[in-house]
Amino acid sequence: MSPGACFEPAQAIVTATRLEGRWITPGNTNALASRKGAYILLVGLDRPLPVGAGRSKSGQLPAGIYFYAGSAYGAGGFAARIGRHFRRDKKVHWHVDRLTLEASRLAAFIVENGNECELVEALMESNSVAIALEGFGSTDCSSCRSHLLTIV
Ligand SMILES: [Zn+2]
Repeated sequence: MSPGACFEPAQAIVTATRLEGRWITPGNTNALASRKGAYILLVGLDRPLPVGAGRSKSGQLPAGIYFYAGSAYGAGGFAARIGRHFRRDKKVHWHVDRLTLEASRLAAFIVENGNECELVEALMESNSVAIALEGFGSTDCSSCRSHLLTIV
């Protein structure tokens, strides 16, 4: 099995945090309706991926499993945002779209009414993750060094 295909260790890290939420996979997005909150997107990359990170930083992500923390408080809530992450036919609009288009596997852990920075904090507390790329997804955020983490 390719490294990107094995999600169990990453899912175990998320499930062991104090966060209360539930898993959504590309096959079960119907239940999302228009609920809103924050989420952790798990992204499996089988190949290295060059990416920009915002604030003109860029880098290359090695193959592996990534945690991206985001929020879905816009129109359509989780259904719109997570649905977009899982969709294969889209134009690259955000940096994270590069990851989701290259991903060999995706899943999302949704926390209703959650805050994306608290999700990052909870993951960092596990001591099982590290910053994957400085500044990624956290340009409007004053408390996090990045919203993209990976397994240590
Ligand atoms: Zn943040």
